[in-house]
Amino acid sequence: MRLGCIADDFTGATDLANNLVRAGMRVVQTIGVPPASLDADVDAVVVALKSRTIPPHEAIEQSLAALRWLRAQGAEQIYFKYCSTFDSWYEGDVRGNIGPVTEALMQALGTDFTMATPAFPDNQRSVFKGHLFVGDVLLADSGMRHHPLTPMTESNLVKVMQGQCKGQVGLVDHRVVALGPEAISARFQALRQQGVGVAIVDAVDNADLLRLGPALKGMPLVTGGSGVAIGLPANWGLTPNPQAAALPAVAGWQAVVSGSCSQATRAQVAHVKALGWPCMAMDVQALVSGGESGLAAQCDAVLAWAKPLLAKGPVLVYSTDEPDVVKAAQAQWGSLQTGHAVEQALARVAQGLVQAGVGQLVVAGGETSGACVQALGVTQLQIGVQIDPGVPWCHAPLVADQGVHLTLKSGNFGTVDFFAKAFEVLKAAKSR
Ligand code: ADP
Repeated sequence: MRLGCIADDFTGATDLANNLVRAGMRVVQTIGVPPASLDADVDAVVVALKSRTIPPHEAIEQSLAALRWLRAQGAEQIYFKYCSTFDSWYEGDVRGNIGPVTEALMQALGTDFTMATPAFPDNQRSVFKGHLFVGDVLLADSGMRHHPLTPMTESNLVKVMQGQCKGQVGLVDHRVVALGPEAISARFQALRQQGVGVAIVDAVDNADLLRLGPALKGMPLVTGGSGVAIGLPANWGLTPNPQAAALPAVAGWQAVVSGSCSQATRAQVAHVKALGWPCMAMDVQALVSGGESGLAAQCDAVLAWAKPLLAKGPVLVYSTDEPDVVKAAQAQWGSLQTGHAVEQALARVAQGLVQAGVGQLVVAGGETSGACVQALGVTQLQIGVQIDPGVPWCHAPLVADQGVHLTLKSGNFGTVDFFAKAFEVLKAAKSR
């Protein structure tokens, strides 16, 4: 194994694996830290954690466990992957997990320097003068300011990261990146000599990330969104290879489960409602207040509604709602409790749908995907064809000869017609 990756959520892990596959690496994604050694001939493994919104000491512990496993498998370089909107969970004194995990990984790897950039130009995430833009607006002016768990209200990443790190944070700005790999390496060296531990790197297009790639050769730890991945496989002489994306043949019914309340997902849900798909909203109020039995009863009712419809075409089950509705629920029950109850319910629905014969499942939402994948008992995903930037189809073997094609869509990803497009892309994809 060349590259060992640690991702702080499930959709993010898939997004990273997708970029690595497209750049020529054979990639397996594991759900959590595998209990045994790797039994696959691959260039990279992405260990998917669900550590974005857990207390920092737990995120550190899980990340270090992933690091130990990856190093035991022979990983030559470690990649810590977080969200392209730098999602950080703020509560009380907790300043987000990206900084603490980065510094813990640096310490374990015996290195005093690394870099950080969530830039992912294919998905309109760019970093300029240390400021993160989502499309044409600064992060703090984007829909991310309303995120249910990780609202982002500061766009200057040097400031955000400095607030999360013990060591000093610096910047490699766009003028340096534009000069190429040697200039970037020289700036890394200079910052390191000044005592900087983490350098935020500007990148506004893929050319910037491809210039950054060679400057990362041999760096024990790199950190970023998935964009940094496009420049790394070439460091091992690897080039794009479409064969890497072939998945087993498709079977089973189609369904979408959406727990994301992000702007893009809200538009995607509205789109399939307008197309006339059968759609069922979860009753969030009843879920949070009804305890375990209320949750079970609602899931049973949703499944009873869905099952007879599956043979006719895709169905959508969702809790997706507008920011004011989400905020009101959170104010009443707390964001973590509400989020957890909704995640558990949607995961149970996903499990029931697969048991009912769904073989093509779209899940929208990072945390939601984590819960669904855990409920389905998925431990490993093979990465296949891309639907939209950052979102590939995957295949997970389940029991015996049963498997499921899954796509895990991060909230803000995908075009407005994503759900319908996903099934078309899978139908057209080459199978093994
Ligand atoms: P995204 O990828 O858009 O960030 P996530 O699934 O990661 O989506 O996060 C959305 C969070 O919001 C989850 O914890 C989910 O359970 C919660 N959630 C979903 N629907 C609602 C709702 N209607 N009210 C409150 N919280 C919700």
